[in-house]
Amino acid sequence: MHTQVAIVGAGPAGLLLSHMLRLAGISSVVLERGNRDHVGTRMRAGGLEHGAVALLEKVGLGQRLKDIGLIVEQTDFRFDGQGHRVDFAGMTQRCFTIYPQYEIVSDLLQAHAQAGQEILFDTPVTRITGVDTKQPRVYFLKDGQEHELSCDFIAGCDGYHGPCKQAIPEGVLKVYEENYPFAWLGILAEVAPPSLEVAYSCHERGFAMSSFRAPEISRLYLQCPVDDKSDNWSDDRVWSELHTRMDVPDRPALIEGRITQKSVTAMKNFVIEPMQYGQLFMAGDAAHIVPPTGAKGLNSALADISILAPAFSAFYQRGDRGPLDRYSETALKRVWQVQRFSADMCTLLHRFPDTSEFNWRAQRERLRYMTTDPTGALTYAENFVGLPFEEPA
Ligand SMILES: Cc1cc2nc3c(=O)[nH]c(=O)nc-3n(C[C@H](O)[C@H](O)[C@H](O)COP(=O)(O)OP(=O)(O)OC[C@H]3O[C@@H](n4cnc5c(N)ncnc54)[C@H](O)[C@@H]3O)c2cc1C
Repeated sequence: MHTQVAIVGAGPAGLLLSHMLRLAGISSVVLERGNRDHVGTRMRAGGLEHGAVALLEKVGLGQRLKDIGLIVEQTDFRFDGQGHRVDFAGMTQRCFTIYPQYEIVSDLLQAHAQAGQEILFDTPVTRITGVDTKQPRVYFLKDGQEHELSCDFIAGCDGYHGPCKQAIPEGVLKVYEENYPFAWLGILAEVAPPSLEVAYSCHERGFAMSSFRAPEISRLYLQCPVDDKSDNWSDDRVWSELHTRMDVPDRPALIEGRITQKSVTAMKNFVIEPMQYGQLFMAGDAAHIVPPTGAKGLNSALADISILAPAFSAFYQRGDRGPLDRYSETALKRVWQVQRFSADMCTLLHRFPDTSEFNWRAQRERLRYMTTDPTGALTYAENFVGLPFEEPA
């Protein structure tokens, strides 16, 4: 088997890259270790920056997004017993769109099926070789047998735990990592949120958040200890803790509903530099992770592809390798801006287990500045609606 670009991973990054390459007449093969159901139903991110929406529209994936995406124009920050709204859409003339990650993946799978392009599910990649030669190779399992795919380039879109990074020789990569001393209990509930807005709470018992995935589906989060288990959280305990942390007198109280999912997620920042080596290009969670407080993980993965796909086009259509050679440098500028914002939001909104009275007081003062001072609020607004994406040709 040979293809121009072998793509490891059928998450949003890998599928969007394959879609954009197909539009540019470039062949690719997507190898995915999971099965189609697993990939198409994972409950993960839910919010799109305006740049991500524009990109998806530009590559022909805008219709369902327009039909069922829900526009959010303000964020409510709750602390010291009060709500503080930041009207980010009014300040930036841009909005945020709630459109779950599984819908994007579903649109991409549908587009692949319509174009007759098969995704190879249940094909875990075991190793890749020759990334510093003109013909790298990807080895994968199919029905227990090892197969080999040769290619011109490999795109490592294989998430944080994927194997592609391991093909980069020791000493080339610099890894930046920050782990936080708390985690999130993520809750999915069959109930409408009190209003169609994202609400964050910075409470002395810990962070909480109320968001949604559809008009009747709430997505809620509670800060919990890093080694906590979802089994420790009965439904009653979840609702009681959510009410304690989220409800304030000047906002409608949370509405309780049937909980359908609970899971614990660790919080971390992670970046590899560079994001490329030889013929291997890394994108999305494979190259960088953010704590989800800023709602940036999915958006960053799509932003990488808005740079990588046109770089492959420049190579195949004009023989120009410059944009590919500059991919890591270009992508990392945005990646670090997003890391900075996500780390700031994470430290600003959580209660650190060993925080001093001074730091806890100063933390809420920083929140007050960000929500009530025009300069502070504008900085939040511009970062939340999203930094510019590369404009695909
Ligand atoms: C529980 C959870 C909640 C999240 N919530 C949010 C949120 O609210 N907001 C937000 O913006 N972001 C959120 N994120 C982050 C967001 O989901 C990711 O940033 C996004 O999925 C990145 O897309 P990706 O394509 O880079 O990686 P992934 O979606 O991880 O896709 C990588 C793919 O590679 C495949 N793969 C791995 N190893 C192999 C192998 N050996 N062979 C073949 N395939 C392989 C995996 O099966 C996977 O399908 C969340 C993530 C998690 C885990």
